[in-house]
Amino acid sequence: MKVLRTPAEVHSLRDELRNRAVTVGLVPTMGYLHEGHDSLLKAAREENDVVVMSLFVNPTQFRAGEDLSTYPRDEERDLAIAGQSGVDYVYAPLPDDIYPSGYATRVEVEGLTEVLCGSETSRGPGHFAGVTTIVAKLLNAVDPDVAYFGQKDAQQATVIRRMAEDLEFRTRIDILPTVRERDGLAMSSRNAYLSPEARERATAIWASLLETETVFAESGLDAALDAGRHHLESAGITPEYFEARYPGTLDPADGEGSDPILVAVAAKVDGTRLIDNILIEPERDNRRKP
Ligand code: AMP
Repeated sequence: MKVLRTPAEVHSLRDELRNRAVTVGLVPTMGYLHEGHDSLLKAAREENDVVVMSLFVNPTQFRAGEDLSTYPRDEERDLAIAGQSGVDYVYAPLPDDIYPSGYATRVEVEGLTEVLCGSETSRGPGHFAGVTTIVAKLLNAVDPDVAYFGQKDAQQATVIRRMAEDLEFRTRIDILPTVRERDGLAMSSRNAYLSPEARERATAIWASLLETETVFAESGLDAALDAGRHHLESAGITPEYFEARYPGTLDPADGEGSDPILVAVAAKVDGTRLIDNILIEPERDNRRKP
């Protein structure tokens, strides 16, 4: 496995790979790898000749006051895991190489980035502009056949799909299921912040989404959202948002019809901001009814 540090190194790698006519899979990460990342790396390994993983804590997607300076980092461990997962190249640049002096370009997706995590009371639309800018730069530099992302960040997946289509990137965007701890908590680098007590309480997030799914099948969407929110609040967790939306457009879901519904939640548990979601399929749930 080789570690690349600069855009110039990635560009010359790309030239070489193009001459060899191999397929390339890209897995963008901010490091502090866990099994969620690993599932993306495994898929990339199975489906491509060459696997590139990027490792970059992207400063432009953090708001002032967020956890950029304390975001967990352990490059040595990440490189060891990447090696074991069959990664061929890790691209781990420095912020100054990605955003050199004079850098002035932002890639912004409108609309989709103004709700849920993008609302002003949450991380704000600037968060997603940071995400789409870095992902656009990575897609441009690495030019992968496939790029892999996790359903855990459902809104991010929707926004990146939109960007890739709008800007005519020819990379296929694959979204893989959320990998969970045994008790249901979605794996996240930020789980490392949780005290044992907060870690225990955080299980209420996934439980509240399962509760929402169950109640939806019996009593409809409004009752389901009430039940989910109530479950969370009973565990002493106040959601930043707990909302039902259609996954492709992120328009509010009304619970009528057969389209899948994304129920997404963000909540701070003892100061650690966690997100999770569930996709509810009304038709399947209706079929379960007696
Ligand atoms: P991050 O390093 O947190 O920016 O995540 C890098 C990629 O891994 C993103 O596409 C995430 O959606 C994905 N990811 C993070 N956590 C999980 C998880 N628990 N299951 C599946 N994918 C995940």
